[in-house]
Amino acid sequence: MVLQDILDKTFLEREDILRLLDTQGDEYESLLRKALDVKLLHLDNHVHLRGLIELSNICRKSCLYCGVRGGNTKVTRYAISEDDAVACAQLAQRLGYGSVAIQSGERDDAEFIDKITRIIQRIKEIDNGSLGITLSLGEQSEATYRRWFEAGAHRYLLRIESSDEELYYRIHPHDARHDFHRRLDCIDTLIGLGYQTGTGVMVGLPFQTLEILAGDLLFFRDKDVAMVGMGPYIPHPDTPLYAFADQIPSSEERVKMTLRMIAILRLMMPEINMVAATAMQTLDPFGREKAIIAGANVIMPNLTPNEFREEYLIYPDKACVSDKPDECFSCLDLRMKGIGHDILYNAWGDSPAFLKKHPRES
Ligand code: SAM
Repeated sequence: MVLQDILDKTFLEREDILRLLDTQGDEYESLLRKALDVKLLHLDNHVHLRGLIELSNICRKSCLYCGVRGGNTKVTRYAISEDDAVACAQLAQRLGYGSVAIQSGERDDAEFIDKITRIIQRIKEIDNGSLGITLSLGEQSEATYRRWFEAGAHRYLLRIESSDEELYYRIHPHDARHDFHRRLDCIDTLIGLGYQTGTGVMVGLPFQTLEILAGDLLFFRDKDVAMVGMGPYIPHPDTPLYAFADQIPSSEERVKMTLRMIAILRLMMPEINMVAATAMQTLDPFGREKAIIAGANVIMPNLTPNEFREEYLIYPDKACVSDKPDECFSCLDLRMKGIGHDILYNAWGDSPAFLKKHPRES
């Protein structure tokens, strides 16, 4: 089939997706252009911000790709205090970010759950609840997810990492703590509880095929998620998966494949929120801009106090580790204007896809 005919379809089938994942040269450019047109039509040129607070690198898991995996003894472990986390959120409010995203290594003990609950409640007290709260705190029980939702969090990001069970177990230990089906169940639980639920995958993993990537995109559509975060895999030398670093595509190709994934998903799900991941910026100085032009509409500027950022290295050479939050602020605004986009300040920036389904919660 001619590429333009596929780009004009309202519903992409698996074979269309496979064809688009394999585009090169002019066809690749046409895909990205079409995705930008679709995004501008549905979401305008607006970019939403989530001030990122990397709360702690203490993690009970041992994901084979992650630099802060529990098994990595080279990491100095930290946990930001409750007061400091709230101070980060106050800064987000002053900078007009509209929302914060709290991310952390995974813990499910009572002390951690209580601390997160209090942080959410205190963030909600800032300026009469003006900040939206996204959580990215891994797999938790339904009771914990509910508690955090009732405390005021309304979005949750839990990447499936790969929707292909076989690949999932090649990048995670095959044990009770890294159970593929539990992760799937958690995503369903989050959706059922009413969170704006996001998921996503890493792109360019060893053993990952185009068929698997097409399956990931179909998975997002089947689950009808409200947000997706996809970024290139970046090998970390202190992790077991690094042994396969010579078997993955070049960083340039991993960036391009991530852009194809973002662009295709924008055609498939025109109104969801999609993140331009920091990992894009790490592999390409204009990676986040490229992701926005390919269809993403959310950026997560880092608000983590600089003293801790060096210890949240999930992959090496992470972008913006030494930037001060206010430098980030003006830099991002200029960067987005430079590509014809406007940051929407002081707004939660919820996904229209979600708001249409849950009108009373908007
Ligand atoms: N523990 C939470 C969870 O499991 O969802 C959140 C923290 S986890 C470090 C955040 C994300 O970092 C993961 O979902 C994963 O996709 C990404 N990540 C970890 N290691 C990575 C790597 N080497 N390259 C690219 N992304 C990576």
